Amino acid sequence: TVRTGEQYLESIRNRSKVEIYVMGKEVKDVTTHPFLRPSVMSFKATFDAAWQEDTKELGRAWSPFIEEEINRFNHIHRSPEDLAAKVKLLRKLSHKTGACFQRCVGWDSLNTLNIVSNMMAAKGKREMRDRFVEYLKFVQKRDLALAGAMTDAKGVRNLKPSQQPNKNAYLRITEVTKDGIYVSGAKANITGVAATEEMVVLPTRAMGPEDKDYAVAFALPTDTEGVKIVVGRQLNDSRRMEQGEIDALPYFYNHEGLVIFDNVFVPMNRVFLAGDWEYTGTLVEIFSAYHRQGYGGCKAGLGDVIIGASADLAKQIGVEKASHVQDKLTEMIFLTETMYSAGIAASLNAVKLCEGCWWVNPMHANVTKHLVAKFPAQIAQLSIDIAGGIVGTAPSEWDLKNPKLREYISKYLQGVEDYTAEDRLRMVRLIENVSMGVAFQIESVHGAGSPAAQRIMFSRLYDLNYSQEVAKSLAGRKSELKFTSKAEPWRESQSESEARES
Ligand code: SF4
Ligand code: FE
Repeated sequence: TVRTGEQYLESIRNRSKVEIYVMGKEVKDVTTHPFLRPSVMSFKATFDAAWQEDTKELGRAWSPFIEEEINRFNHIHRSPEDLAAKVKLLRKLSHKTGACFQRCVGWDSLNTLNIVSNMMAAKGKREMRDRFVEYLKFVQKRDLALAGAMTDAKGVRNLKPSQQPNKNAYLRITEVTKDGIYVSGAKANITGVAATEEMVVLPTRAMGPEDKDYAVAFALPTDTEGVKIVVGRQLNDSRRMEQGEIDALPYFYNHEGLVIFDNVFVPMNRVFLAGDWEYTGTLVEIFSAYHRQGYGGCKAGLGDVIIGASADLAKQIGVEKASHVQDKLTEMIFLTETMYSAGIAASLNAVKLCEGCWWVNPMHANVTKHLVAKFPAQIAQLSIDIAGGIVGTAPSEWDLKNPKLREYISKYLQGVEDYTAEDRLRMVRLIENVSMGVAFQIESVHGAGSPAAQRIMFSRLYDLNYSQEVAKSLAGRKSELKFTSKAEPWRESQSESEARES
């Protein structure tokens, strides 16, 4: 099924069982709440995109699982081109929202479980594969809005899950019955969760046998009993409560939430990992590479928004031809297109892990995310440089709307006569909210794993021995160069690559 945005809105309107809190107060209708509505509208954009002329083709895909056309956000990537379509779609969607549209984490979770459940089936755990495929069909048939819930509360960072003073610092299985499992704990920083219908829950780190109660993956409706969602605060969030139309960008935004599981029951047919610690490391690696690749699309799209706003503001004050402004815009273009290029490389150099399972190129996906951890701060800085101090000092929209002030503000905020003070204020607020918002600054650094996690992957994936042999042979020294690079280590088992290195 390919649902319309309206159909999605209908299904999350007025849910009686859901437990969501915003700034200490319970919210029942996320579609009308001033804090959450912009977030819901960004999520909705992923549904609308499948119907809009410019994104219809990218926004849909054919599912061999249900033999139907579906929204691409629930699609299992079947080729490198599918992966590139993801990056292109995300860039376009950033243009429609100026925010994180929050649906990709659930999508990446489905693709991760598709690969991992295939691996499990190959090792005799057919049941997990069957459960996952049934769930995937359920999701695709209904075109559901999913959250991916991965990051645990994590407690003391240098202790393993089973060593934590708080036993629930990582989500864990507290009881197994013949019908299902009970879980307690919390998942933190969960993107878009209040706007979803289902959550796909995955482990957040590699685990050993002693942590097996923490090796758990499953899916649940967001309004399951015992699940509490506490939405996080953001810069400028109380502006949204003012219900204006300029200062807070009230049309589209995104949110994250702390998801608490208080002794929650999960039926067995929705359990995908239960104690299977051997798969946790692989699962995390597969997921994080998928999500790191995606950032090359959505963050480049936000880069475009900021470049556009900066160029327009330069025109409004008559500096668009100044060479230093041109140069700054050029630098912003370079930074934006670099992030995108890496995301496309991660897609087109994809890896086939099983029949109909395409994973991204892990090196290029990690490079993509590492660029994203650095470049948005530079892009934001350049945009503020062009826009001027007004980004931090502009009067509010309420001053502009005050009859006693309107005439003055109109006169003193205006630059070139073709533009009004309101034109300028709107663009200034766009730069302020997008370039310094959670999605472009904080998520760019920590989303899909912190920068240190990517650096670990670089050294793991890069074949330093091979490069040294290349250098030695070119320098005319004795070399054992055999042109057998470790460039695709994921094709081999750990022991094989270790054996060859030694
Ligand atoms: Fe999607 Fe980007 Fe938001 Fe992640 S940060 S959910 S990839 S829009
Ligand atoms: Fe993210």
